[in-house]
Amino acid sequence: MKDLSKIKGKIRDIRNFPKEGIVFKDITPLLADHEACAEAVEGLAEPFQNNPPDAIAGIESRGFLFGMLLAMHFGIPFIPVRKSGKLPYEKISHSYSLEYGEATIEIHTDAVWPGCKVLIHDDLLATGGTAAAAANLIEKLGGVVHGYSFLIELEFLNGSENLTSAFKHSLIRVK
Ligand code: 5GP
Repeated sequence: MKDLSKIKGKIRDIRNFPKEGIVFKDITPLLADHEACAEAVEGLAEPFQNNPPDAIAGIESRGFLFGMLLAMHFGIPFIPVRKSGKLPYEKISHSYSLEYGEATIEIHTDAVWPGCKVLIHDDLLATGGTAAAAANLIEKLGGVVHGYSFLIELEFLNGSENLTSAFKHSLIRVK
């Protein structure tokens, strides 16, 4: 992917959201621009083009947006990884620590088959806790984490150190 300026220009910083001291990366301007979205999908898919996954797991909720588009791009299933209490069918859960408190995410038990190569996608990698929890769910079901894919990585938080050794790709890196 040569020129990321169009995509970068559609991500805006919102200061003190959702709380004081946080600079939130808002991707809604990107979502409003279908050409920039198409470029983003192309850029996200590129490193996996020669060795595609069997499925994409997108993490609620912003991981659903480009996760589903990536699944469509590769012609493979999309797996929603959701917050506790949202999935209707048989499921497994994993709880993990947040800065304050705990979060639980869930996956349907029939979403991943043994040996299924799953690419985990989310809009943003911060501490890595959410993506690591998604990897735990996939492995519990006998799946293999094929890689991790993020639209944005906040590199200064070193979140990739909290992920398993699978291939990691972030389209936009914030230092
Ligand atoms: P982590 O678990 O890596 O600390 O946090 C990543 C999760 O928090 C992702 O699901 C992501 O959607 C959300 N997140 C944290 N900070 C931001 C942000 O600045 N912008 C966006 N779009 N999402 C964020």
